[in-house]
Amino acid sequence: MTRQGDISLLYLDCQTEFDFRKRRAPSLHPVYCGVVNLNPDQCYQALLARDARFDGRFFVAVKTTRIYCRPICRVKTPMRKNCQFLSHAAAAEAAGFRPCKRCRPELAPGNSPMEVSSQLARSTAYQIGQDFLAEHSLAELAKKLGVTDRQMRRVFHDEFGVSPVEFWQTQRLLLA
Ligand SMILES: [Zn+2]
Repeated sequence: MTRQGDISLLYLDCQTEFDFRKRRAPSLHPVYCGVVNLNPDQCYQALLARDARFDGRFFVAVKTTRIYCRPICRVKTPMRKNCQFLSHAAAAEAAGFRPCKRCRPELAPGNSPMEVSSQLARSTAYQIGQDFLAEHSLAELAKKLGVTDRQMRRVFHDEFGVSPVEFWQTQRLLLA
Protein backbone atom coordinates (compact mmCIF):
# COMPACT_ATOMS: atom_id res chain seq x y z
CA MET A 1 0.00 0.00 0.00
CA THR A 2 2.90 2.34 0.69
CA ARG A 3 3.92 4.22 -2.37
CA GLN A 4 6.82 6.60 -2.05
CA GLY A 5 5.17 8.93 -4.55
CA ASP A 6 2.38 9.72 -2.14
CA ILE A 7 4.71 10.73 0.61
CA SER A 8 6.81 12.93 -1.61
CA LEU A 9 3.68 14.94 -2.39
CA LEU A 10 4.10 16.46 1.02
CA TYR A 11 7.41 18.00 0.26
CA LEU A 12 6.09 21.12 -1.36
CA ASP A 13 6.73 24.75 -0.66
CA CYS A 14 4.21 26.22 1.68
CA GLN A 15 6.21 28.05 4.28
CA THR A 16 3.63 30.74 4.86
CA GLU A 17 1.40 28.22 6.62
CA PHE A 18 3.68 27.99 9.61
CA ASP A 19 2.10 30.86 11.44
CA PHE A 20 3.87 30.11 14.70
CA ARG A 21 6.97 31.47 12.99
CA LYS A 22 5.46 34.93 13.10
CA ARG A 23 5.43 34.80 16.87
CA ARG A 24 8.81 33.15 17.23
CA ALA A 25 12.40 34.03 16.69
CA PRO A 26 13.29 33.74 12.99
CA SER A 27 16.06 31.33 13.91
CA LEU A 28 13.41 28.63 14.47
CA HIS A 29 12.55 28.01 10.88
CA PRO A 30 15.86 26.91 9.42
CA VAL A 31 15.92 24.26 12.13
CA TYR A 32 12.35 23.05 12.22
CA CYS A 33 10.66 24.09 9.03
CA GLY A 34 13.42 24.41 6.52
CA VAL A 35 14.06 20.68 6.31
CA VAL A 36 10.66 19.55 5.11
CA ASN A 37 7.94 21.84 3.85
CA LEU A 38 4.51 20.40 4.26
CA ASN A 39 1.48 21.13 2.13
CA PRO A 40 -1.28 21.78 4.67
CA ASP A 41 -4.15 20.65 2.44
CA GLN A 42 -2.56 17.28 1.85
CA CYS A 43 -1.79 17.00 5.55
CA TYR A 44 -5.40 17.69 6.38
CA GLN A 45 -6.60 15.06 3.91
CA ALA A 46 -4.20 12.56 5.49
CA LEU A 47 -5.51 13.56 8.90
CA LEU A 48 -9.15 13.08 7.87
CA ALA A 49 -8.27 9.64 6.54
CA ARG A 50 -6.07 8.86 9.56
CA ASP A 51 -3.67 7.66 6.92
CA ALA A 52 -1.02 5.53 8.60
CA ARG A 53 1.44 6.17 5.79
CA PHE A 54 1.88 9.67 7.14
CA ASP A 55 2.51 8.64 10.72
CA GLY A 56 5.77 10.20 11.81
CA ARG A 57 5.87 12.32 8.62
CA PHE A 58 4.03 15.21 10.20
CA PHE A 59 2.22 16.24 13.36
CA VAL A 60 -0.89 18.29 13.80
CA ALA A 61 -0.91 20.99 16.44
CA VAL A 62 -4.36 22.18 17.44
CA LYS A 63 -4.47 25.88 18.28
CA THR A 64 -7.64 25.68 20.36
CA THR A 65 -6.51 22.88 22.67
CA ARG A 66 -2.75 23.55 22.51
CA ILE A 67 -2.25 19.82 22.03
CA TYR A 68 -0.44 18.10 19.20
CA CYS A 69 -1.17 14.70 17.69
CA ARG A 70 -0.04 12.17 15.17
CA PRO A 71 -2.10 12.01 11.94
CA ILE A 72 -3.46 8.60 12.98
CA CYS A 73 -4.91 9.82 16.28
CA ARG A 74 -8.41 8.55 17.03
CA VAL A 75 -9.62 11.78 18.62
CA LYS A 76 -12.18 13.83 16.72
CA THR A 77 -10.52 15.53 13.77
CA PRO A 78 -10.07 19.22 14.55
CA MET A 79 -11.35 21.88 12.18
CA ARG A 80 -8.97 22.83 9.42
CA LYS A 81 -8.67 26.41 10.63
CA ASN A 82 -7.42 25.26 14.03
CA CYS A 83 -4.68 23.01 12.66
CA GLN A 84 -1.02 23.69 12.19
CA PHE A 85 1.04 21.01 10.50
CA LEU A 86 4.57 20.46 11.65
CA SER A 87 7.23 18.11 10.44
CA HIS A 88 8.71 17.40 13.86
CA ALA A 89 7.34 16.80 17.33
CA ALA A 90 10.10 19.10 18.55
CA ALA A 91 8.63 21.95 16.53
CA ALA A 92 5.28 21.51 18.25
CA GLU A 93 6.97 21.37 21.65
CA ALA A 94 8.98 24.47 20.82
CA ALA A 95 5.79 26.30 19.91
CA GLY A 96 4.28 25.42 23.30
CA PHE A 97 1.99 22.51 22.40
CA ARG A 98 1.56 19.52 24.71
CA PRO A 99 1.64 15.94 23.42
CA CYS A 100 -1.71 14.14 23.16
CA LYS A 101 -2.08 11.47 25.83
CA ARG A 102 -3.89 9.18 23.46
CA CYS A 103 -1.59 8.92 20.43
CA ARG A 104 1.65 9.83 22.23
CA PRO A 105 3.22 11.83 19.39
CA GLU A 106 6.43 12.26 21.35
CA LEU A 107 7.14 8.57 20.87
CA ALA A 108 8.66 7.19 17.72
CA PRO A 109 6.22 5.71 15.18
CA GLY A 110 5.58 2.06 15.85
CA ASN A 111 5.97 2.23 19.61
CA SER A 112 2.90 3.92 20.96
CA PRO A 113 0.38 1.93 22.97
CA MET A 114 -2.28 3.02 20.51
CA GLU A 115 -0.65 1.31 17.56
CA VAL A 116 -0.36 -1.93 19.48
CA SER A 117 -4.08 -1.72 20.30
CA SER A 118 -4.88 -0.94 16.73
CA GLN A 119 -2.98 -3.99 15.54
CA LEU A 120 -4.83 -6.16 18.04
CA ALA A 121 -8.17 -4.78 16.83
CA ARG A 122 -7.25 -5.45 13.23
CA SER A 123 -6.08 -9.00 14.00
CA THR A 124 -9.41 -9.57 15.73
CA ALA A 125 -11.30 -8.20 12.75
CA TYR A 126 -9.28 -10.39 10.44
CA GLN A 127 -10.12 -13.54 12.42
CA ILE A 128 -13.80 -12.57 12.52
CA GLY A 129 -13.64 -11.99 8.78
CA GLN A 130 -12.38 -15.55 8.45
CA ASP A 131 -15.56 -16.63 10.30
CA PHE A 132 -13.67 -17.76 13.37
CA LEU A 133 -16.71 -17.05 15.55
CA ALA A 134 -18.86 -19.46 13.58
CA GLU A 135 -17.27 -22.34 15.46
CA HIS A 136 -15.50 -20.70 18.39
CA SER A 137 -16.35 -18.43 21.28
CA LEU A 138 -15.10 -14.90 21.79
CA ALA A 139 -12.96 -16.18 24.68
CA GLU A 140 -11.31 -18.66 22.34
CA LEU A 141 -10.56 -15.91 19.86
CA ALA A 142 -9.02 -13.77 22.62
CA LYS A 143 -6.91 -16.71 23.71
CA LYS A 144 -5.74 -17.30 20.16
CA LEU A 145 -4.60 -13.67 20.00
CA GLY A 146 -2.92 -13.86 23.40
CA VAL A 147 -5.11 -11.36 25.26
CA THR A 148 -8.05 -11.49 27.64
CA ASP A 149 -11.59 -11.48 26.38
CA ARG A 150 -12.23 -8.17 28.12
CA GLN A 151 -9.11 -6.50 26.68
CA MET A 152 -9.95 -7.67 23.18
CA ARG A 153 -13.51 -6.32 23.41
CA ARG A 154 -12.37 -2.96 24.75
CA VAL A 155 -9.68 -2.46 22.11
CA PHE A 156 -11.99 -3.63 19.36
CA HIS A 157 -14.70 -1.24 20.40
CA ASP A 158 -12.22 1.65 20.59
CA GLU A 159 -11.03 0.95 17.07
CA PHE A 160 -14.28 0.15 15.25
CA GLY A 161 -17.03 1.51 17.50
CA VAL A 162 -18.84 -1.83 17.67
CA SER A 163 -18.37 -5.05 19.61
CA PRO A 164 -16.69 -8.03 17.92
CA VAL A 165 -20.02 -9.87 17.85
CA GLU A 166 -21.82 -6.91 16.26
CA PHE A 167 -19.02 -6.69 13.72
CA TRP A 168 -19.38 -10.38 12.95
CA GLN A 169 -23.16 -10.11 12.59
CA THR A 170 -22.74 -7.22 10.17
CA GLN A 171 -20.25 -9.22 8.16
CA ARG A 172 -22.68 -12.10 7.95
CA LEU A 173 -25.48 -9.84 6.84
CA LEU A 174 -23.28 -8.34 4.16
CA LEU A 175 -22.22 -11.73 2.93
CA ALA A 176 -25.67 -13.33 3.11
ZN1 LIG B 1 -3.70 12.44 19.63
